[in-house]
Amino acid sequence: MTLTEELIAAIRNIPDYPKPGIMFRDITTLLGNPRAFRRSVDELVHPFAGTKIEKVAGMEARGFIIGGAVAHQLSAGFVPIRKKGKLPHDTVRIAYSLEYGVDEMEMHRDAVQPGEKVILVDDLIATGGTAEGAVKLLKQMGAEIVAACFIIDLPALGGRKKLEALGVDVRTLVE
Ligand code: 5GP
Repeated sequence: MTLTEELIAAIRNIPDYPKPGIMFRDITTLLGNPRAFRRSVDELVHPFAGTKIEKVAGMEARGFIIGGAVAHQLSAGFVPIRKKGKLPHDTVRIAYSLEYGVDEMEMHRDAVQPGEKVILVDDLIATGGTAEGAVKLLKQMGAEIVAACFIIDLPALGGRKKLEALGVDVRTLVE
């Protein structure tokens, strides 16, 4: 099986979740599949083998699972980007757009040093609002964003283009 075929087979589609008319791409089945999980992480890491990545930033909550595995393989540190009010120390916060409305995300002020090479990881990019917020937060702290990486791209929702317009290299495994 090609990687694309394997990933498509491993991702479960849930109609009308969380709302009627939405097809939710459930990656818990991919995470529970040892071979598909391993291949996804290997493929995300592959372009960065031999390059110096200091930190992997992952978005709550599925970005923690994939980003943690990616960070381990790259011998990089991990930076959690969380919904507001969850991090215990001094934070920087940014508002980001959701499909309907806005929310805020935070990271610890000392989680990234100026000039550090960072890759951003999440399971899926849809409108790109979440990743755009994370990119802005990381740039505000002086990080050099090497790439933003996702297992799934929903291209019709325009997220990739939104990040590319910010000058971010976007890598995805399956559409
Ligand atoms: P965006 O901000 O790009 O519109 O939405 C992406 C964020 O919402 C990601 O953090 C992602 O985890 C979550 N998300 C949105 N739709 C889905 C989906 O169908 N499946 C999964 N696994 N996550 C989704």
